[in-house]
Amino acid sequence: MLYVRVSSKDQEQGFSIPAQRKLLIDYAAERGLKIVQQFEDVETAKRAGRVAFGEMIAFLRTSSCRILLVEKTDRLYRNIKDWVTVDELGAEVHFVKENVVLSEDSRSSEKFMHGIKVLMAKNYIDNLGEEVRKGMLEKARQGHWPSVAPIGYLNSPLTRRIEPDPDRAPAVAKLFEWYATGEDSLKVLTAKATAAGLTNRTSNRPLVKAKIHQLLQNPIYACDFQWLGQTYEGQHQPLISRDLFQRVQDVFAAANHPKHTKRQHAFAGLVTCGRCGCAYTAETKKGQYIYYHCTGYRGPCGNTWVREEDLGQQLGELVKLVRIPTELADGVAAALRESQGDKEQFARTTVMRLQQQQLLIRSKLDRAYDDRLSGRISDELWSTKSVELESELQKVRADMERQDRASHEYEATGLQILELAQSAYSLYVAQKPQEQARLLKTLLSNCAFDRGSLTPTYVKPFDLFVKGSETGDWLLRLDSNQQPSG
Ligand SMILES: [Zn+2]
Repeated sequence: MLYVRVSSKDQEQGFSIPAQRKLLIDYAAERGLKIVQQFEDVETAKRAGRVAFGEMIAFLRTSSCRILLVEKTDRLYRNIKDWVTVDELGAEVHFVKENVVLSEDSRSSEKFMHGIKVLMAKNYIDNLGEEVRKGMLEKARQGHWPSVAPIGYLNSPLTRRIEPDPDRAPAVAKLFEWYATGEDSLKVLTAKATAAGLTNRTSNRPLVKAKIHQLLQNPIYACDFQWLGQTYEGQHQPLISRDLFQRVQDVFAAANHPKHTKRQHAFAGLVTCGRCGCAYTAETKKGQYIYYHCTGYRGPCGNTWVREEDLGQQLGELVKLVRIPTELADGVAAALRESQGDKEQFARTTVMRLQQQQLLIRSKLDRAYDDRLSGRISDELWSTKSVELESELQKVRADMERQDRASHEYEATGLQILELAQSAYSLYVAQKPQEQARLLKTLLSNCAFDRGSLTPTYVKPFDLFVKGSETGDWLLRLDSNQQPSG
């Protein structure tokens, strides 16, 4: 079977589904593989969903077909989670353009290289996302909500700000007033909201209780809003007064709703109970010693408490296992530089396209300017037109800068991962628990604690570093080309 996908960006770049399909069909024919099923995802700017990806996974689970053909790594996965899903199916995956076949029998060095590639593809996307985040942060700093408007507001395409939604704003304000009386439970309030015709903008369905709870705690309606952990004073029109917002929060406090946790313990969220599966929580004893223990939500399980220092040391032992031999690190670095070449090629084409766009906009501007001088268009028309074109030009410039930076960061990120694997432990011991936890979260998804011993689950691809250093398996040569079977 085969899987093809294009994103909206690909389509702009001229990559197409038929080309991918042809590549895979030719490949199958050459090797005498029979194609039993084809799956195709076409993403658009509006829809990023991947219906066919899900269907393909379901098909692989039930069918006897064990071979999956795709063009290259980033066609198949958009994130690490996708990789884990596919990996767990145990199918044989052929990345045709990359000339790589992965199966359960693949050597760990091959899987490792593959893992690095997946991580790279994701990092590349993250870097692009980073730029978007920076822009949003800047908007927040100026007091403008940078994202999709919350219920009760609309994103105005004209001002690029949020404006009260005439259909919903009055009902939202009413909710605050009702709840501030302290007479209605959230359940009653939810029913009242439904009766008042308050609906979700996207689905047009009534709001559920949890949504109403969330809404009543969102300070944006009284003008302040939170963005990435910071509070900003909004410049938009409030729907309620600050005083009313505060009264609603007082009602919540009185109803003893869970408040924010008092103090973040470094390793909380990293460790679960190996006996009953509950989370591990921490508390401070005698004002200075921090102990971690099972929350015991499923009843007493007999697990022991552990001091933060001891836990930190044990976690450090797990970090120690994430290692990579120097020879292998060199091989991976070389492979990374090679794929950096591909990315640069891609970046160059994109930049060229952007440069052409820039020229086109500039010539339009020139023409409009001439028109104005000769009186063919009015001053007003000129000013709207030039503002419009200038902002297009700015967008293109931002795109170019972003492309440039992302491409440079690609290789650097990969080398950082290698460096991390080579020096994780020495980094770890030199740090305070809070920073240690950050490093741990990069390497470990979870750890089960059972009376003094820890069972780790490593984040991919670091599990391969560990497996490799335990078995020495990856000391096999790093050639990732393998002839497909069947
Ligand atoms: Zn327990």
